Amino acid sequence: MLEAIFAPRSVAVVGASPNPARLGHQVLKNVITNGYQGAVYAIHPTASSILDTPTYPSVLDVPESLDLAVLVIPVEHVLDVVEQCGQKGVRGLVVITAGFKEVGREGKQREQLLLARVQHYGMRMIGPNCLGIIDTLSNLNASFAGLMPNPGEIAFMSQSGALCTAILDWSKGGGLGFSRFVSLGNKADVDEVTLLEAWGDDPHSKVILAYLEGINDGTHFVQVARRTTRTTPVIAIKSGTTSAGTRAASSHTGSLTGSESAYEAAFRQSGILRAESMQELFDLAMAFAYQPPLQGNKIAIVTNAGGPGIIATDAIERTGLLQMADLTQDTIRTLQTGLPATANCFNPIDIIGDARSDRYRIALQAALADPNVDAVLVLFTPQAASDTDVTAQLIAELADTSPKPVLTSFMGAVSLINARRILNDNRIPNYHFPERAVQALAGMARHTHWRNQPEPEYAEFAVDRERVQQLFARVREAGRVELGELEAREVMLAYGMRLPQSELARSPEEAVSIANRIGYPIVMKISSPDILHKSDVGGVKVGLKDAGEVRDMYELIEYRARKYSPNARIWGILIQEQARKGRELLVGVNRDPQFGALVAVGMGGIYVEVLKDVAFNLAPISRQEAAAQIRAIRTYPLLRGVRGELPADVAYIEDVLLRVSQMVQDFPEIVEMDINPLVVYNKGEGAMVLDARIILAS
Ligand code: ADP
Ligand code: MG
Repeated sequence: MLEAIFAPRSVAVVGASPNPARLGHQVLKNVITNGYQGAVYAIHPTASSILDTPTYPSVLDVPESLDLAVLVIPVEHVLDVVEQCGQKGVRGLVVITAGFKEVGREGKQREQLLLARVQHYGMRMIGPNCLGIIDTLSNLNASFAGLMPNPGEIAFMSQSGALCTAILDWSKGGGLGFSRFVSLGNKADVDEVTLLEAWGDDPHSKVILAYLEGINDGTHFVQVARRTTRTTPVIAIKSGTTSAGTRAASSHTGSLTGSESAYEAAFRQSGILRAESMQELFDLAMAFAYQPPLQGNKIAIVTNAGGPGIIATDAIERTGLLQMADLTQDTIRTLQTGLPATANCFNPIDIIGDARSDRYRIALQAALADPNVDAVLVLFTPQAASDTDVTAQLIAELADTSPKPVLTSFMGAVSLINARRILNDNRIPNYHFPERAVQALAGMARHTHWRNQPEPEYAEFAVDRERVQQLFARVREAGRVELGELEAREVMLAYGMRLPQSELARSPEEAVSIANRIGYPIVMKISSPDILHKSDVGGVKVGLKDAGEVRDMYELIEYRARKYSPNARIWGILIQEQARKGRELLVGVNRDPQFGALVAVGMGGIYVEVLKDVAFNLAPISRQEAAAQIRAIRTYPLLRGVRGELPADVAYIEDVLLRVSQMVQDFPEIVEMDINPLVVYNKGEGAMVLDARIILAS
């Protein structure tokens, strides 16, 4: 269906103008001057011909059929023209016109009407409020950009039109090429998900790039991105993650910006490579577009300078993902025979400052032939003896015949202008500094790792949904949305969690008889729908040793609660089995408006807020993701056990995460949940939920 937009047989530019100063003129000019082969029509109320293009007063007057209409008209005419397009049988629209969602409430309504009309006729639409689209395969430039990009394998989408023009300009200088180039605008219809889906199996796009300010439907985005990234690397830069950036983004395109943790999880769980800067975005794109896929993570370095070789080696180790390749004996022998005695024949291979291209040949050839090497990074510093251009040419030739990626860093400026062009023309990704090349290699390795992962497994536990449903109904009937420990325990039990024995006492006598039954030591906790943080009111007491203590404590806790919050309804006091000491964790849930339930796990206890040592995943969580999540906590070594401690039951924590994931999938009305603490015991001994609370959507 998107062919109507990217490869239409005919295009009408509605709002084409004879006046070169107008946007409509520029758009028409772009459509007709870049080699587009289909039929082109200009739509203008009075002109008979614009730029030698057949011109009609409306799309309905065009004698042939129309695939695509590009709208560059005043906003008040857009709805009428779209109606005419629908009647005409137009299938694709690019609405450049602004004045919709981005200008406030009235504009938002107008956009809704626009979308309704587009959908009524089964059309697809890019925009409104965009720069347009460019497709270098059909040579269609339906935009007001000043330039046509070079053809290439990068598919690019951007929520900022201005950024599009900057990148076009820059890419013309740098030589990077694009297959498709889309300014998403307000993305009322076609959005990032539509394009990810369409480009995932596009043989002409080796890598997908996205600049996003917000995401329309986070859950759908993750689902689709997961599939797309299995075949095609997707690199995204998401702006608006710092709080100042967030304000700018929402006034800019009127997009909702989700929380940073949710984006981080969404990108990670869907295999999207996240670029931290525009530079990183294109550094990575160039590597993917120009070079074959990286098969492993072992890198060899060939250099004519020791220092940069060490810098690159350090950078490789720092990625935590790439490794320096262990060269085989064969390779080392070949290098020793071919290179001077002063050369270093181990990785990094240092061919010494007076090296000319012949030494680069010996070293690069040997490295590429080594079965322990997955990619080669070639470093070059200009020296007195260097035959720079010949070396660049040679690297290009050797790389061309190898299935392994070759990246270069030619360091310097004035003497490298030619060499850089040679490398670029031959599709060798070259970077000004070795660290950037290493970053690009790390991105490639991350993608390889993602693709090689087995399909995710999702657990399905036998649970008692009905019981929870009924409980939630009762809570709502009572006019509440918060469940304290007493009620949250029921939910936890229904989802198979282990909990200490516990019973509600309504009098000191009842407290004593329950405590006697459970056995000492005992824990007592205030139970009130109006007190969610029990310790804050002195409402928790552990280690009560006998009936006398229980009786006294009952009155004390009740007294404290009344004093602290005189209007609180007090249900009684929970008399609870005292759990053995273990390591205290926190498992929490927060619902992100765009991505859904975000499940957190971290070290619990009183320092939670200060340490912020939590790891996130979006639900649904797969078994592999749960395992990785726990290992992502900074203090994970404490769970593995330090100084002779036995390891904690990590497998059981994984289970708890999966059960929680299932719970929040089953009950979208859970907007917040806290298990704190989850006390975890040694391997094989499980864990227990000592406290929980749940907040439902109001
Ligand atoms: P709060 O509402 O203040 O979070 P909790 O129920 O979490 O109250 O209790 C506070 C602390 O008391 C817990 O972090 C835990 O260390 C300890 N605790 C609570 N319940 C038990 C129990 N059944 N056995 C042992 N320790 C407990
Ligand atoms: Mg607690």
